[in-house]
Amino acid sequence: MEEVGEGIFRLQVEMPGPLGSVNCFLLEGGGEVVLVDTGPDVAVSRQALLRELRALGKRLEEITRILITHGHPDHCGFAKRARQDHGIPFWIHPLDAEYYARMHRGELTLQAQTWIRREVPEEAVSQIEMGLWGMMGIVQEEIPWDSCDIPREVPDQKPMVFHVGEMEWRVFHTPGHSPGHVCLYEPHLGILLSGDLVLPQETPHIGLDGSNSGDPLANYLASLHLLESLPARLVLPGHGEPFHDLGERILELRAHHQERLHLILEAVREGAQGIYEVAQRIRWTPKKVSFGELDPINQFLALQEAAAHLEHLVARNCLQRIPSEGPTRFVFLTEEGVLGKGL
Ligand SMILES: [Zn+2]
Ligand SMILES: [Zn+2]
Repeated sequence: MEEVGEGIFRLQVEMPGPLGSVNCFLLEGGGEVVLVDTGPDVAVSRQALLRELRALGKRLEEITRILITHGHPDHCGFAKRARQDHGIPFWIHPLDAEYYARMHRGELTLQAQTWIRREVPEEAVSQIEMGLWGMMGIVQEEIPWDSCDIPREVPDQKPMVFHVGEMEWRVFHTPGHSPGHVCLYEPHLGILLSGDLVLPQETPHIGLDGSNSGDPLANYLASLHLLESLPARLVLPGHGEPFHDLGERILELRAHHQERLHLILEAVREGAQGIYEVAQRIRWTPKKVSFGELDPINQFLALQEAAAHLEHLVARNCLQRIPSEGPTRFVFLTEEGVLGKGL
């Protein structure tokens, strides 16, 4: 537990998986005790959250409201139990509420599986599906989302404002990492709660896999653009340490996607046609490992990333998508436009 500002506390909640922990934040003032993100609904994380609250002299029952940055299980898994067992209301953007409900109904898995079977060569399908099942294993939770009567009492406005004592938090819809991702900003303090949109170490995952559609990378870049306009002095991310230079981190993230777009465009120009072929030509993770060196979960994530970047290149008229019964094919058109607005 760490006090990062007056009435603002960072709770570090450990969790399984490579990230190791998730940051939840407690905002306190004027009789309100607001928890931003809860950690996943697994025993080790639940205990960690309660331990962090205890270190603050707080009990779970004292929380007046939970606010969720986005519908990934590491950020909102425990919200359902808190609502079910203690009646604590929570708010999540309706798009992510829907996304999460579809995940629990198994729809996302089915759609992703259909996508894998279309886009991946037969001999590699079982390996990539293992990655999909691995992901689903991580999100496995005991309480189904639908049983929680997802509250939608807060209208979808930009930005929604809520007060915690003197603090005036603005909630900005910042899609890209997930459809209903939100960031919270307090203008008087210059503090930004960035969720998983901007992380200090990792590059937030942007993916497309048949369970979602559109151009999530364009959404992500537009969300970065929105954050850039906020004069944040301190960024409190969903994972990792708080940091100060938001502008510099945004430049790094944008440069990362710019480089990846160029590499992918180059791969298609050199003859890679499908998502799987493109993913095999790219070096992944900060260690720049080959696709074949990744474990199944990361291979699945890499395919989603490749698909999102390909789709963005189609939207920028750099590539053409050729419809087919089999794997999606892409044809190189031009590299002009890849440096366009928003990048
Ligand atoms: Zn996330
Ligand atoms: Zn996360």
